[in-house]
Amino acid sequence: ETQKETLGFQTEVKQLLKLMIHSLYSNKEIFLRELISNASDASEKLRFEALSNADLYENDGDLKIRVEFDEKAKTVTVSDNGIGMSRQDVIDHLGTIAKSGTASFLSNLTGDQAKDSQLIGQFGVGFYSAFIVAKQVDVFTRRAGLDASEGVHWSSTGEGEFSIESVDLAQRGTRIVLSLKEDEEEFANSFRLRSLVRKYSDHIAIPVLMEKEAMPSDDEDEKEEANKAPEFETVNSATAIWSRSKSEITDDEYKAFYKHVSHDFAEPLSWAHNQVEGNLEYTSLLYLPEKAPFDLWNRDAPKGLKLYIQRVFIMDQADEFLPLYLRFIKGVVDSKNLSLNVSREILQKDPNVDKLRTALTKRALDMLAKLAKNDAEKYNAFWKEFGQVLKEGPAEDYANREKVLKLLRFASTHNDNAEQTVGLDDYVSRMKEGQEKIYYVVADSYNAAKSSPHLEIFRKKGIEVLLMSDRIDEWMMSQLFDFDGKSFQDVSKGELNLGDVESEEEKKQQEEVAKQMEGLTERLTSALGERIKEVRVTHRLTESPACLVVGDYDMGAQMRKIMEAAGQ
Ligand code: ADP
Ligand code: MG
Repeated sequence: ETQKETLGFQTEVKQLLKLMIHSLYSNKEIFLRELISNASDASEKLRFEALSNADLYENDGDLKIRVEFDEKAKTVTVSDNGIGMSRQDVIDHLGTIAKSGTASFLSNLTGDQAKDSQLIGQFGVGFYSAFIVAKQVDVFTRRAGLDASEGVHWSSTGEGEFSIESVDLAQRGTRIVLSLKEDEEEFANSFRLRSLVRKYSDHIAIPVLMEKEAMPSDDEDEKEEANKAPEFETVNSATAIWSRSKSEITDDEYKAFYKHVSHDFAEPLSWAHNQVEGNLEYTSLLYLPEKAPFDLWNRDAPKGLKLYIQRVFIMDQADEFLPLYLRFIKGVVDSKNLSLNVSREILQKDPNVDKLRTALTKRALDMLAKLAKNDAEKYNAFWKEFGQVLKEGPAEDYANREKVLKLLRFASTHNDNAEQTVGLDDYVSRMKEGQEKIYYVVADSYNAAKSSPHLEIFRKKGIEVLLMSDRIDEWMMSQLFDFDGKSFQDVSKGELNLGDVESEEEKKQQEEVAKQMEGLTERLTSALGERIKEVRVTHRLTESPACLVVGDYDMGAQMRKIMEAAGQ
């Protein structure tokens, strides 16, 4: 086992490596963030596993991350005394098993450099980003609890293969040595590295240490001193950002932390930080991303929050704390109400989880409502990316239905353009005197909705109609009954009753016309026979001679098509 073996990277990993090195060139400094982030993850994993097996600490419970450099050798080294990796871990995680989602990520690439580097940012670059600046990467690692002889040395130039051999490592954890490319030597510099640690890793809860800057001095004693073991100092603030007081945290710190939890390159659109005491004690820091991830519609795509219990990291992607229709929210929840030895199975049964979910759902909806109120432009940007997901909300979350409804945006005859910017509150505020219902029409496209013959009478009377054409719309509307006490009415369904918007005189007139036409409707009814339910005289049209209407409780045209497509 001690002998060296050479293995090939998995095909997808190879592709990823190539892409990353070429498309992230303008963003190369993020390699340090990624390596420190992994070191921090590894430290948190050790702390978590040590909860049930304190021996893993090997008498060294002082977890820290070191960043070192050697100007002459042109190397940068990041080391941690976290959980470390076994030989199999190394083979799996650093080369042969692609991260979940890699395939779907690769299939989403467009070939357009700018777009693809956006995507790669969303996907999360991780360990392989080391190869943006390094011509060779060496990893020395030993898993906590294993014998010193079970250390592993991994090495690669990032070109298709890596080698792996066993080495003795007295110290558990991982040390990663980057041999810098010729034109990346600037990174082997104290000032540069320090500012990068502060910029990207300040919020990391584990201390990141760097060697103290040696003061130039003539004093012989001090020179003597300098030849001894180097002294280290903590460069980051090393406290969990969410546990700090809100007033002390800058926007830049919030943004940097977002990049850490989301692996996103872009900045968040908005965030909400809440520290709650009382019966249910929790701190949450929720973020709204700017762009939808490429796998938003993939059922298995990662979702959920990072769960901490009293600052101890417990798990990633804890999806029990938010409903599915808020799956785009990223962030952290830290609570005292859960026991430290939770597992996913236990989480599903703990009643405190339900309480936290209720509380966090409210926080997330409040964050959205605040954004909608204070910054319509940003809210529209949010809506374009995630509106379709939010539309699952009224059906999924009965308790918050009214709140979610207020967040929905539609195209409408009021604006007469395809932009979905009209909220139900706007609609209600513009309702005509005597109007009792909220009118809408559903069609396959915005253009079809806008030119629906059913709209004629509404346009004539100046009554606003919401124009819906998203795939989910008809289904969503079938789950809704009213908003703000006003019922929804599909203008293409059932008998049209414009309520008190119509005068008594108009109604009488309509009845008379209907009587005069009885002969015609009877003839049509017998001609069309079984194919229809009834023929009615209508005043809903002003220009078109006739239109098809479905019954109040029947499936609409869009829904029929979906069912047909599904083979029903
Ligand atoms: P991610 O962090 O999103 O899982 P990365 O590419 O950054 O993806 O890392 C891949 C995997 O390699 C990690 O999930 C972890 O298992 C392992 N790994 C990387 N760095 C370390 C480290 N410093 N200590 C222990 N394991 C590590
Ligand atoms: Mg990582």
